[in-house]
Amino acid sequence: MAQSRKGKSKIIWYLFGLLCLLVVLPIAWILVAKFENEKPGLNVTGQSGFIGLSQEFSIEVFDGKSGVQKVWAGLLKDGKETLLLEEDFPAVSFMKGSDIHKKTFKVSFEPRKEGITDGRAILRIVVRDSSWRDGFKGNKTYKEIELIVDTKPPSVDILTRQHNITQGGAGLVIYRVSEKGTKSGVKVGENFFPGLSGYFDDENIFMAFFALGYSQPKGTQIYVKVVDQAGNNARAGFYHYIRKKEFKKDVINISDRFLNWKMPEFDDRELQSSQASLIEKFILVNSKVRKENIEQITKPGENTDNILYWEGSFLRLPKSATKAIFAEHRTYKYKGRIVDEQDHLGVDLASTSFSPVPAANRGKVVLIGVVGIFGKSVVIDHGFGLFSLYSHLSSIDVANGQTVLKGEIIGRTGDTGLAGGDHLHYGMFIRNTFVNPLEWWDAVWIKNNITNKISMIKEQ
Ligand SMILES: [Zn+2]
Repeated sequence: MAQSRKGKSKIIWYLFGLLCLLVVLPIAWILVAKFENEKPGLNVTGQSGFIGLSQEFSIEVFDGKSGVQKVWAGLLKDGKETLLLEEDFPAVSFMKGSDIHKKTFKVSFEPRKEGITDGRAILRIVVRDSSWRDGFKGNKTYKEIELIVDTKPPSVDILTRQHNITQGGAGLVIYRVSEKGTKSGVKVGENFFPGLSGYFDDENIFMAFFALGYSQPKGTQIYVKVVDQAGNNARAGFYHYIRKKEFKKDVINISDRFLNWKMPEFDDRELQSSQASLIEKFILVNSKVRKENIEQITKPGENTDNILYWEGSFLRLPKSATKAIFAEHRTYKYKGRIVDEQDHLGVDLASTSFSPVPAANRGKVVLIGVVGIFGKSVVIDHGFGLFSLYSHLSSIDVANGQTVLKGEIIGRTGDTGLAGGDHLHYGMFIRNTFVNPLEWWDAVWIKNNITNKISMIKEQ
């Protein structure tokens, strides 16, 4: 009897143990999982600290454990909260919680339509996960971002009159912007020429040198564009007249002598000694390599000093004959067959071999070295986006970053790169666009189109 009683109590203990294993432990495990205390993650992107006329930004939320239960965003301005986003994600099952572990919400709104006025505001964002903590409301991540609501577009006053631009030529427009911290410049078709302040005492006055590409047509849209920190845009048209220009056409016959002389240099540098024939190599160099070289040459155009280094007309290589002009369209022939067509973006000037090359005007050397078809080259920044280029040099006598005076010798002419004989390839460009140097060699053109405009504003 006593034995069996002992046995019974043993069984009860076993059952109790089993109960613990099957019920209590799972419950404990569930409670630990359901009461997880890892806060959800929150990122705000596309926010610059300003809210413009129409605003869009992204809120990214993530929660690896119980999942996101709620996302809420509001804009607090003058004690009034405007709801921007509110989404709930109920648990998909008892065990799983929410199935939103990572999600990006796009928030877009127009402050004026919501009755939000300009001034300081606070963007408030709350994310909660599906944990049972905080009375089943979940772990909370909260973020506040201070912002400025600015729905007023900037305004622009054009200060210069008369803008006559020739195809392949340059222009200057000076304008005043109503607010600080804007990005502005001139749109010429699809091209953009940033304006820079710093020349006039009033730092809201900008100068923008711009170029009309030689192939851009008469109807090209030209206007000043301003974007403020809140992303508000403004445009201002200005009176301008586009003069059409015909460009010369020329045929260049490529000889085997020229190919045998020039191609080895490119084999080594650009073509890595491919098995192609010499004329095939030439075509590759003349088209693809040329394009890359032009990009390399005009790269300094992205950064220019807001110092007007130059003064008066630009110097032309002394005692030299013009061998090719700007934007000349060249048809390349080999053994009577047309093999390529390209446009010549500078002026070729020939003097005696190894002639000293003067800097066309005062400026800062921003590029020296061998640049493919251009050979040994020097680029000078004359300030506010205007640059000059000296190519096919046999030697370079200046260092990068050096300031040079007008007429200072920067190197000697030569035939490096794709030159068929000793000459200087002289180019000028504004930012990323080559322009006709003839304008800059002409003191009258400079006076009428550039310096008179600047001095008129100085006198005001
Ligand atoms: Zn040339």
